[in-house]
Amino acid sequence: MQNVSYQRNLPVSHTCDVLVVGGGPAGFCAAVAAARAGADTVLVEQHGYGGGMATAGLVAPFMTCYDSAGDTMLIRGLFEEVVDRLCKVGGAIHPSKVETASAFTSYLIAGHVHVTPFKAESLKLVIDEMLREAGVKVLYHTAFVDAEMDGDRIAKVIVYKKEGLCAIDAKMVIDCSGDADVAEKAKVPYLKRQEKMQPASLFFRIGNVDSQKIEEDIAANKDNFYRKNNTNYRSLHWWVSKAREAGDWTLNRVSIGLFRGVEEDEWSINTSRIMGVDGTDSESLTEGEIVGRQQVDEIFRFFVKYVPGCENARLLQSGSTLGIRETRHIEGIKTLKLDDLLNYRVPEDSILLAANSVDVHGKYGPTSNEYITLPAGKYYGIPYGCLVPKGCSNLLVAGRSISAEPDAAGAIRVMPPCMAFGQAAGIAAAMAIRESVEPKDVDVQKLRAELIRNNACL
Ligand SMILES: Cc1cc2nc3c(=O)[nH]c(=O)nc-3n(C[C@H](O)[C@H](O)[C@H](O)COP(=O)(O)OP(=O)(O)OC[C@H]3O[C@@H](n4cnc5c(N)ncnc54)[C@H](O)[C@@H]3O)c2cc1C
Repeated sequence: MQNVSYQRNLPVSHTCDVLVVGGGPAGFCAAVAAARAGADTVLVEQHGYGGGMATAGLVAPFMTCYDSAGDTMLIRGLFEEVVDRLCKVGGAIHPSKVETASAFTSYLIAGHVHVTPFKAESLKLVIDEMLREAGVKVLYHTAFVDAEMDGDRIAKVIVYKKEGLCAIDAKMVIDCSGDADVAEKAKVPYLKRQEKMQPASLFFRIGNVDSQKIEEDIAANKDNFYRKNNTNYRSLHWWVSKAREAGDWTLNRVSIGLFRGVEEDEWSINTSRIMGVDGTDSESLTEGEIVGRQQVDEIFRFFVKYVPGCENARLLQSGSTLGIRETRHIEGIKTLKLDDLLNYRVPEDSILLAANSVDVHGKYGPTSNEYITLPAGKYYGIPYGCLVPKGCSNLLVAGRSISAEPDAAGAIRVMPPCMAFGQAAGIAAAMAIRESVEPKDVDVQKLRAELIRNNACL
């Protein structure tokens, strides 16, 4: 490959205490939390709205925020505030009202207790509202490009705006890009699996569905459900087999993941599976998007032809970005291990309690799904050190790329934990600035006390 040297003087467009890169579930919560904690905060997001996978990717519902028995809401704080604001405008159904094994919970009986169906359009508005109220300077249509280092410190963050390249001068940076883009440029060590990386999926939504008919069909097939890893799937696989026999199903999938939305006739479909996509590589992403759309087309046709209640269904929309489950996992001063989750460890420096099931797709090929649910009532803790990267003194990382073994990340990559990581990182960044310490030296018990004051359940 040919190289070119490129030098320019760039304007410093913003100076701030905290810069948050990425406005997805982790990022907008990080920005709101940092600003509410008194930090002058800037958020940059490449799309024209916040929410990341929840809006651009059409991923829904919010996975469970409860303990594994479904008794106690464990993930609260900013997540609960978002849910309450959504419910107030009819943009979500409160998780306490969403029963296990109902149409909202996909087709799993264990592990999907009390999920939160929500409307992506309402979420966009709620995010704008919360960022504005907190006083965050929001820069949509702005993408992170590079980190200019001064030793182990990020001196300037280079971003692309419509006007061209600019620099942002921030005392502390929080990487919520999902892909650890900032951490990578700041030379933080990380793991990115080439093999066994979780596959990508393109979500889509269908409308004009007779939901009662779908439910009757599922009820009629109750004895047909899959049972795997003690989990019961009600996945319409009886129709997939029929379609395969007729030559109408060519995909390497045996079942369907579908979730009813807030509106009675609308469903989100999580079934396409694109193996081998590297979410940090534009050419790989491009190919993934194209294959994803072909799969969506085939799956939608299947619904109309085979699934009772979908005869008059309409394809409303596919995600405006491919759903990426996994890319880089940073190396932090602590690393969450699968063993910690499966033994329900709650370290003293936990910034979150959660009970999300280990959900690893495609580990052993396109049809595999590893799913481990915690026994009833159990939960685990995630230590603060998983958000603190090695090798960079003014960076925190929140969201799906925190320091975790890939299988452990398979549990805590879902949206409610990501929002909680963002909240913890935002408060920690503001504390580090206030107390003139590096993130690694933040007093974790003080951070926990601050999180509890902000409605976290610890
Ligand atoms: C197919 C699929 C199904 C899933 N199902 C569920 C589910 O049912 N329930 C659930 O709760 N979770 C689910 N998840 C997981 C969840 O959606 C994600 O793991 C979660 O959204 C991660 O949050 P995040 O904030 O870390 O990253 P993201 O949601 O990816 O947000 C990252 C944000 O950063 C922005 N960004 C990235 N790079 C840059 C850059 N260089 N410059 C500027 N901005 C940038 C992006 O535009 C985006 O807005 C699913 C994920 C996938 C892919």
